[in-house]
Amino acid sequence: MTPNTLAGLLVLALPVGYALLCWLSPFAACRFCDGTGNHVSWWERRQARTNPNHKPKRRIRKPCRRCKGTGARLRIGRRIHNAGRRLHHDGTR
Ligand SMILES: [Zn+2]
Repeated sequence: MTPNTLAGLLVLALPVGYALLCWLSPFAACRFCDGTGNHVSWWERRQARTNPNHKPKRRIRKPCRRCKGTGARLRIGRRIHNAGRRLHHDGTR
């Protein structure tokens, strides 16, 4: 097996692996609130970025704006898949 064959296999395996991941686990943790579902103020985001000993607050005051308090986001691959399925469904009925 040459290095080129290995590189080709890797290039083929990456999208297949990501598609499998999007099929098995379509949701990932929200990047805005790290999956907590709590609203994160700009001050808390700054503290988390600059202070390594910062502990995020656990009490829920407001739901996260990005994920509406669910703490989950749809993966980009799954969003593309859903858009394709919607387009196919709307075009063939
Ligand atoms: Zn969120």
